[in-house]
Amino acid sequence: MRRNDNFARLNKNYLFTEIEKRVAAFKAKEPSAKLISLSVGDTSQSIPPSIAKGLVQKITDLQVNETYSGYGPSQGDRALREKIAEAFYENKISADEIFISDGAKCDIGRLQLLFGEKSKIVLQNPTYPVYLDSSLLMGQTEISALPALPDNGFFPEFGKVKEVDLIYFCSPNNPTGVAATKEQLKELVSFAKSRCAVIIFDSAYAGFIRDPSLPRSIYEIEGAEECAIEVSSFSKLIGFTGVRLGWSVVPKALKYENGLSVHDDWQRVMATFFNGASNIAQAGGVAALTPEGVEEMRGLTDYYLENVRLLRGALQPMGYPIYGGEAAPYLWVDFGEERFQEFLERYHILTTPGSGFGSAGKGFLRFSGFGSREDILEATRRLKREVSYQNSDR
Ligand code: PLP
Repeated sequence: MRRNDNFARLNKNYLFTEIEKRVAAFKAKEPSAKLISLSVGDTSQSIPPSIAKGLVQKITDLQVNETYSGYGPSQGDRALREKIAEAFYENKISADEIFISDGAKCDIGRLQLLFGEKSKIVLQNPTYPVYLDSSLLMGQTEISALPALPDNGFFPEFGKVKEVDLIYFCSPNNPTGVAATKEQLKELVSFAKSRCAVIIFDSAYAGFIRDPSLPRSIYEIEGAEECAIEVSSFSKLIGFTGVRLGWSVVPKALKYENGLSVHDDWQRVMATFFNGASNIAQAGGVAALTPEGVEEMRGLTDYYLENVRLLRGALQPMGYPIYGGEAAPYLWVDFGEERFQEFLERYHILTTPGSGFGSAGKGFLRFSGFGSREDILEATRRLKREVSYQNSDR
C-alpha cells in the first residue's frame, strides 16, 4: 500500500513534538524542577456552572426513552444555530448559513475539500500551523506565507500577490494575540474581491475582544458574505477544548467562479464526512448562549485576559517589545533571538518558540495566559525576582 506522498511535505518537527523533546531532555537533567507551562493554548479552568448544567441535563435526557435522541441534523441543532446567529452575528447571518461542528480545527481541514489541490493559498506568517499543514496534505503546491510583523501592524502586504484562490486569516490572531482593525479587514475583503478569492476567516478568539471598535467577525465588513467563510469555536470561550464544539459560516451569497453555490457543497461535505456534533456538546452550546451562560463566558474570558495582563506586567521590565494580549490571551514578545531554552532553564517556564509558527516568528516567544491564576502568579514571581536581581546587579 502506497503512502500519500503529501505526508513527506509536512514539517517533521511539528511544533509541539519539538517542544516535548526539549522538555523531556530538561526534565531528565533537572528532575526536581517545577515547570510552569505558558506554552500550548489549552484551557485550564472548569466549565462554568450553568453551561455544565446544560451538558448534564442532556445526559439525563439521553437516559430516558421519551427524551432520548440519536442522530441530529448534520448541519446542527437549529436552536443552537439561531442562538449563534443572534449572539455572534446580530442576525446578519442566518441560522441556515451556520454549520455546527466538532471544532474549528476540524472544519479548517474539511474546508480544503471545497477547493481542491490546485488552489493557490495565501497565509499570514507567522500562522496557526493547521492552515499550512492541511494545505500541504491536500496537495496544494502554491502557498505564499506573507510576513505579518510589527512593522506592518501584523497585516501582510496582500497587494503584492497577483493570483490567489484562498486566503487564511486569523483575528484575533494566534500566535500574535493581535486583532485586525476594521480598516485592515476592509482592505482584506477588497483584496479578496479584486482577485476573486475566498477568505477563510478564523474567529476562534473573537470572544476575547473588549474594544468595541474592533470587528469580531469578517461579516462586519460590507460585502464579506460574497467572499468569506468564517470558522469559530466554543473551545476557548467556555472551556470546551475537550468537549468539542465549533461552527462554520458559509453564506448563501458565496459562489464559485461558475456561479454554483459553495454553501450547497459545504452541506454535502458535512453530510459526507461528519455526522453532526455531539448532542451533549450542542446542549452545552445552547446553555452558553442564555443570559446566564453569556455572563459566565464573559467571566471566564476575563479571567484569561487578566492572566495575560499580569504576565505582561512581569515581562515589561525586561525591556523587550510586547504585542497582543488585549484581544486574545497570548503575548508575542520580540526578543530578537531564540530564548525558549533560556526561559526553560532559568525560570523553569515553558513558552512557545515563535519560529514554530513560521519563519517570521523567529526571535519571538509566545506566552499563553490560559494557565491557572496560581501558575501565572508563580511565573510572574519568578520573572520579577530574576529581573530585580539582574537590575541590582548592574
Ligand atoms: N483556530 C485557532 C486560531 C486556534 O488557535 C485553535 C486552537 O488553538 C483552533 C482554531 C482550534 O479550535 P477547536 O478547538 O475549535 O478545534
